[in-house]
Amino acid sequence: MSAGRGFTWDFAMALGYAGLAMLGVQFALTARFRRATAPFGIDIVYYFHRYLAVFALAIVCAHYAIVRLYGPAALGSADPRIAPAYMTAGRLALLLFVAVVALALARRALRLEYELWRVTHAFLATAAYALALWHLLGAGGYLDSLWKEALWAGYGAFWVVLIAYVRLVRPFRVARSPWRVAAVRPERGRVWTLVLESPSGARLQFAPGQFAWLSLGVSPFAMREHPFSIASSAARPERIELSIKELGDFTATIKDVKPGETAWLEGPHGTFGVDLRPQAPGYVFVAGGIGIAPIMSVLRTLADRGERRPLVLFYGNRVWERVAFREELDSLARRLDLRIVHALLEPPQEWSGERGYIGREVLERHLPAARAQLEYFLCGPTPMTLAVERALAGLGVPAARVHSEIFEWA
Ligand SMILES: Cc1cc2nc3c(=O)[nH]c(=O)nc-3n(C[C@H](O)[C@H](O)[C@H](O)COP(=O)(O)OP(=O)(O)OC[C@H]3O[C@@H](n4cnc5c(N)ncnc54)[C@H](O)[C@@H]3O)c2cc1C
Repeated sequence: MSAGRGFTWDFAMALGYAGLAMLGVQFALTARFRRATAPFGIDIVYYFHRYLAVFALAIVCAHYAIVRLYGPAALGSADPRIAPAYMTAGRLALLLFVAVVALALARRALRLEYELWRVTHAFLATAAYALALWHLLGAGGYLDSLWKEALWAGYGAFWVVLIAYVRLVRPFRVARSPWRVAAVRPERGRVWTLVLESPSGARLQFAPGQFAWLSLGVSPFAMREHPFSIASSAARPERIELSIKELGDFTATIKDVKPGETAWLEGPHGTFGVDLRPQAPGYVFVAGGIGIAPIMSVLRTLADRGERRPLVLFYGNRVWERVAFREELDSLARRLDLRIVHALLEPPQEWSGERGYIGREVLERHLPAARAQLEYFLCGPTPMTLAVERALAGLGVPAARVHSEIFEWA
């Protein structure tokens, strides 16, 4: 294809290059580089990855549509036996990109198993990108000098190296530091706490509220890791506890894990937690169900540090018998200046605490007058988190003081 055929043609080509450049960046967005994700939070980076993919795909589709409308002759035959290989590569790349994005958006509706989807997603996206690069280098009427070709080939090679690092080098490093299951402790509400110790005495230095990817029963190369908040105190980095709620295929197996089994942790990740807001006059936590896990880490750590500032915990659950850690929370309340407000959806008859969902009225009843100065940490089901964010905004708490941890990214 030749360069410089007027504005529409040039625009279509520019869209192709821009779309491909953006799609390359997707590999970096999901590479979990701690320093790069820390300023935003890794969940936000994953959301950005999602929206950018849709935008980049729209740009690549526009590239194809404009050529189809204004220069169909340049497309030639769609028959792969006649068409140049780089054109077939371009067509295939477009189909694969559409499939990658469609599968990601429809995963839940299609009831695709998360891990199967994840592996398929990674392979299809890499194949689509390689095909698109082949198309660009083959068709590239704008790559009329060796330098320009080298630039795009180098750009493509960079992502290949990055993928190799993420899929091979990093798992290799994780595999070299195994952890051993020391105990599996049942908690209330179908939650199991996995206690991990390092046979070599290694430590996982983390900030309270952070999480790690856990591989259990499979090697770190298998792409079958799951993210879990670290629930234990950051003052004990040699003994890591993850509190896991039975929910699906993997989490249902935790109760059967035997002491002595090997586990691997990749992390820590995440920006949820009080250490990034050390100047606050006090902290408020709002947990729903297993959303208590990162908050347990924060409270245990604060207790170990001898924290004296006032703390309030709003903790929503369905029934009293299934309130995980409720006894330990009472003992933490004796070590800290901590007020606990339990809210139950199905309270027993004699219940004198809060009933129903945690909303504006519940918050208003228990928050101090100077509530706008406090820092808020929310973790629970998405509807709860959104409702509490709205309620806090209505109570005059600046959005910058409200921090939410999301357990459902995809
Ligand atoms: C930052 C973060 C911290 C979390 N902390 C905790 C915690 O402390 N305790 C706890 O019980 N749960 C936690 N979760 C949720 C936990 O990761 C999922 O419940 C678990 O991975 C579900 O796996 P499953 O096979 O049992 O369930 P499935 O039924 O297969 O999955 C249920 C949903 O969980 C998500 N999910 C499944 N597998 C993965 C995966 N490999 N990576 C990312 N998401 C996945 C998907 O949205 C899926 O739709 C956390 C999630 C995130 C993102």
